[in-house]
Amino acid sequence: MSETVGQAAEHDARTLGALLATMPAVERVIASEEAQPLIAQYGRTQVLDAIRATQDAWRRDARAGVLANEDKDTEPFSLERVIADTVRRLAERTQSRLRPVFNLTGTVLHTNLGRALLPDAAVEAVVQALTQPANLEFDLASGKRGDRDDLIDSLICELTGAEAATVVNNNAAAVLLLLSALANRKEVVVSRGELVEIGGAFRIPDIMSRAGARLREIGTTNRTHLKDYEAAINARTALLMKVHCSNYAISGFTKSVELDELAPLARQHGLPVAVDLGSGTLVDLAQWGLPAEPTVRATVEAGADLVTFSGDKLLGGPQAGLIVGRKELIAKIKKHPLKRALRVGKLTLAALEPVLRLYQAPEFLQERLTTLRLLTRPATQMQEAAQRALPALQRAVGDAYAASVEPMFSQIGSGALPVDVLPSSGLVVRYAGKGGSGRALLKLERALRELPQPVIGRIADDAVRLDLRCLESWAETAFVAQLAELRL
Ligand SMILES: *Cc1c(COP(=O)(O)O)cnc(C)c1O
Repeated sequence: MSETVGQAAEHDARTLGALLATMPAVERVIASEEAQPLIAQYGRTQVLDAIRATQDAWRRDARAGVLANEDKDTEPFSLERVIADTVRRLAERTQSRLRPVFNLTGTVLHTNLGRALLPDAAVEAVVQALTQPANLEFDLASGKRGDRDDLIDSLICELTGAEAATVVNNNAAAVLLLLSALANRKEVVVSRGELVEIGGAFRIPDIMSRAGARLREIGTTNRTHLKDYEAAINARTALLMKVHCSNYAISGFTKSVELDELAPLARQHGLPVAVDLGSGTLVDLAQWGLPAEPTVRATVEAGADLVTFSGDKLLGGPQAGLIVGRKELIAKIKKHPLKRALRVGKLTLAALEPVLRLYQAPEFLQERLTTLRLLTRPATQMQEAAQRALPALQRAVGDAYAASVEPMFSQIGSGALPVDVLPSSGLVVRYAGKGGSGRALLKLERALRELPQPVIGRIADDAVRLDLRCLESWAETAFVAQLAELRL
């Protein structure tokens, strides 16, 4: 005679109760010999929390029937298993959320992956600043209070040809501060072709209104003439502003007014011209075969009264916003209360100075400035690295995928010329099984992200692509070794 449904449920409840009763008490686990090294490493509170979390999860699983098929002889809730699960939980819980990854996206200055990587000299300076007191705002000559900008402004002026300089948290802050200090309740004239959105919610019109400045748009999206600027100038005008088209290009029937044309008009009306350069390189990149970007020095020489640019884009330094230009304008900017709110910390200054010093020896720049070294790596280097990694990758992905070495194009990133310009090479993995490849590629891309040091690639043209430009030789062994841990 078969059991009724009610009897079956009662039986299950009894066995579930018996099963849960085998779970060792929290007190026993925490007092066990195995728990002592965990307590020494993580502290009693965290270990207790982790044990409880393990047991709660198991109770839930048992009630949901997930453990139903467990072989009863193996003691699903043995002390050993509780400890093992607790160890895993503690490791997971205490792992840093900000983790190193392999940037194989092909974008060198990847905003989401932290932009510029810093040279050793900067790393050493940051370690010192972190662990020892420093003369951040202390004038060693007079023994009096100093200004943190003094540590670095003359170096910035030397490298840019500007009269004065100041540094804030990032370039968005630099633009906000500049507009707040010079154009509050006044008008700023900007061409419609330069009303940029950078991404991450930086939009020129929005920053303008936050700064209390009135945007005076002129011209059209594709064409703006000098006479448009001229017609817009009135008694309320504070500033003429140009914004570098960092992440887009307007081509075809176009006209924009160059700085050397605009500056004389501004001077005639006694108005300053500000240029938001975005990336703002300090050296001519064309000498290394890279796309030409306007340098800060050339922009100053062409008549800009103020120039703003980022520290962690082509400059290759820490996140920062640099403002250079005429002395009296910089002085006004530095006096604004927002300067105090947007100022940089000592870690930024510590990192920025040695990076700027590299520019004083331009003949070594390509080798020593990490960003430039990565941008100028020849494709053959990446191709050779890809060949070396190929067997390990093919083994890791198995027969369902086919890995190969192929040429590809890297990008500079962070808005410096948005088109593919840097010939590179890397690993390409296609799905070799039957049916559509979409899911299989997503699965592989995720498995790469789940490696101990996540590998970030991209899916394009029906393949997972790993551009090896940013995998320098010192990191190659680690990259290849962990491929064995890929779980597909
Ligand atoms: C990148 C960029 C910004 C923002 O700079 P952050 O340093 O990211 O704040 C502003 N303007 C332009 C033209 C840019 O390219």
